[in-house]
Amino acid sequence: MKGRVASPTPQNPLEARLLQALRDAGLRLTVQRRAICRYLASTKSHPTAQQIYNALKDEFPSLSLATVYNTLDTLVRLGAIHALGNTGDGAIHYDADIEPHVNLACLQCHRVVDLPCEAVAELDRKVAAESGYRILGARLVYYGLCPECQRAAQQTPSVSVAAHH
Ligand SMILES: [Zn+2]
Repeated sequence: MKGRVASPTPQNPLEARLLQALRDAGLRLTVQRRAICRYLASTKSHPTAQQIYNALKDEFPSLSLATVYNTLDTLVRLGAIHALGNTGDGAIHYDADIEPHVNLACLQCHRVVDLPCEAVAELDRKVAAESGYRILGARLVYYGLCPECQRAAQQTPSVSVAAHH
């Protein structure tokens, strides 16, 4: 496994795609909107609007939470990112990866991870063929307990029942 490589370069194709979407929508690429796109493109953590705001507000004091929400809404309407809904924490999580994949949401720690899944691409094609829709994207979210939270639960004595004879 290779370590995660942070890529601050504007050549990040995901960031370029988001900026292009805003440009195509006729929006001015303000420094705040650029920062939001860069953050979305640089993270796999499926952040909420509040998390994006918290991550950027020190570096961009003129950024408002409303701007974060507006920019995210616009990107969702353009099909450039996906809104995943809440993961038990009451907040909408956003995903800049719109390639076919499955999201796995942990209801305990509210983390959302990606699982590349070729079957999703096949499902997209099947749905498009049978419905006549031009598919712009799909969101497929599985809910459950992540491996870490399962291990934590097993280490809590009150939870480990019926495992022994
Ligand atoms: Zn978890």
